[in-house]
Amino acid sequence: MTTKSRLLLIVTSMLLGLTAATIINVSLNFRDYSIKSATEKAQMTANVVKDGITAHMVNGIMDKRAYFLNQISNSNDVEYLRLVRGTHVIKQYGKGFEKESLRDAIDEEVLKTGNNIEKITETAKSTKLRVSIPYKATSDNTISSCTNCHDVQKGDVLGVISMEFDIGDMRNSGIMTIAKILGINLLFIIIALLLINYYVTPYMNLFSNLQSGIKKAYSGDFTHEFISKVGGDAKNVVEQMNSLFRKMQETFGDIKYNLATFIPQGCVSSKDPLHEAKTIISELSDIYKFKKTIELDASKSEVYTRIIDILKLKYHVGHFAFYEVNNVSSERKLIYSTEDKSICFEKTNKNAIQCRAYRTNTVTISTEFPNLCQACSAHDINYVCVPFPINHDITLVISMTSPERSEVELMKKNIPSIKHYLEAAKPVIESQILMEKLRDTSLRDGMTGLYNRRFLEEVIDKIMSQATRNKDTYAVLMLDVDFFKMVNDTYGHDVGDKVIVALSKILKSSIRESDLAIRYGGEEFVILLSNATDDGVMQVANKIHTSFAALSFDVGTSESLRKTISIGIAKFPTDGDTIWKCIKHADTALYEAKNTGRNKIVEFKAEMFQQGDKF
Ligand code: GH3
Ligand code: MG
Ligand code: MG
Repeated sequence: MTTKSRLLLIVTSMLLGLTAATIINVSLNFRDYSIKSATEKAQMTANVVKDGITAHMVNGIMDKRAYFLNQISNSNDVEYLRLVRGTHVIKQYGKGFEKESLRDAIDEEVLKTGNNIEKITETAKSTKLRVSIPYKATSDNTISSCTNCHDVQKGDVLGVISMEFDIGDMRNSGIMTIAKILGINLLFIIIALLLINYYVTPYMNLFSNLQSGIKKAYSGDFTHEFISKVGGDAKNVVEQMNSLFRKMQETFGDIKYNLATFIPQGCVSSKDPLHEAKTIISELSDIYKFKKTIELDASKSEVYTRIIDILKLKYHVGHFAFYEVNNVSSERKLIYSTEDKSICFEKTNKNAIQCRAYRTNTVTISTEFPNLCQACSAHDINYVCVPFPINHDITLVISMTSPERSEVELMKKNIPSIKHYLEAAKPVIESQILMEKLRDTSLRDGMTGLYNRRFLEEVIDKIMSQATRNKDTYAVLMLDVDFFKMVNDTYGHDVGDKVIVALSKILKSSIRESDLAIRYGGEEFVILLSNATDDGVMQVANKIHTSFAALSFDVGTSESLRKTISIGIAKFPTDGDTIWKCIKHADTALYEAKNTGRNKIVEFKAEMFQQGDKF
């Protein structure tokens, strides 16, 4: 029920209640008044009858009383009049004529008790008042004293004056009065309702207009135009609301436009500009915090860990793999995976071109086309693969998987937002790559590509603590080309360089990935072999020794150049309790090899240790 209907109902009920109360009050009063005036009339008639009869008695014309009673009956609206004789009168003067006999039990009762009886008889057509009044004997020494003629005591009931009046006219005029009151009241109610309706309707319309405008505003639509047909304060409110809404619309438009410069439109889809602004600002704030954090990260892998955490904790991606693709070599490296087994074929790591997302540089979603990516080995899984080029050298690929299509929908929805994080991380990753390159350059020897002595100095502590923790062993091989100065002197530095590069290649190909080859000085190299057996160490040393000796270098003349190397070996921890000491001992062994004819492999022995060589 609307407020207006409720108001009209309340007013109508109140006015109807007032009308009903008035009618009840009027009708009760009217009835009392009618009965009272009819009773007074009856008493007056009874007095006239008493006086008249007494006069007849005194004048001795009692035989003429019937005429007198008839005359009374015909006037005063008396419908019926009877002067009933009591037992004393009957006893003294006889029964009298017919209209002086008992009419009914009421008259009998009045004769007996001497009390008035009034009775109203109402039918649909008429209302009658029956009044029976006792005629009591008087004794006052006057001519009209009853005891003069009647053998009675004062106060004895001589008879009953029994009358009946038609008071229907009074009832009818009462009904007419009530009808008029009712009519006037109804008219008043109708006028009141019309007036209320007339004055309240515009306010109610304004109210519902305000309501619908505010409802729209709640869902972000501030285009509502408020209208009012009422002046005064209502008009002011409407004008203020319209100006407020216009301002809101303009402000949110500006905010949306400005925010769109940070986050492309469509990423946060909502019809509510307020909600949209709030979401974008919170997204921007998250990305800002993320960026500030990764800017302080020490390495590229730390930044990658941060991206992985975002995927897990913010986007709740349950299953995914994070790859780094080398754009130059097309090799793909798995940085992180939530699963033990990749959904991609193994060969994809060697040739990332097979990865559709990487090759096409577009988001690849399996639910759109089955078997979309040929690199995928699983058929019962949905995947969303997002490529993201960082720079000329590196592209990241995030491969999210789920057996549930609904989860894929969520992943699709989150892609623009995930890309914002990658976009924020891009310059940081780029600078980390650059830093790594610079660092790598300073730690590597440019000519051979091997690590340099500085690298060894940086990592040696790490290697040592790891070796102590894991009980790793290391064999240190110190190599030096025999009579190398002579090569430079005889054939020039270029040939000397060629010899150094050739030796470095042999070193690289002779060791495992877990071993290290370092260009320690000019034509001196150090090799660290981890957890190798004594035989294994000798095998590597021999292999390097013989491979190098077998090389022949083109020196531009008919003759070719062959060179040899000497190798000194010391073992950690048997020959020294630090790797540095072992390097020193390997150098001692090399010195021994040089001193005893060169072109040989010499293992360190304690007796080679000379005084003054202590560290
Ligand atoms: P030994 O058998 O005792 O080792 O005699 P050696 O002549 O090889 O003596 P040594 O090891 O002291 O010689 C090192 C020489 O290597 C000296 C230096 O001119 C040369 N050299 C150092 N670095 C380079 C380089 O990068 N290129 C070239 N071509 N020569 C280098
Ligand atoms: Mg040498
Ligand atoms: Mg040397």
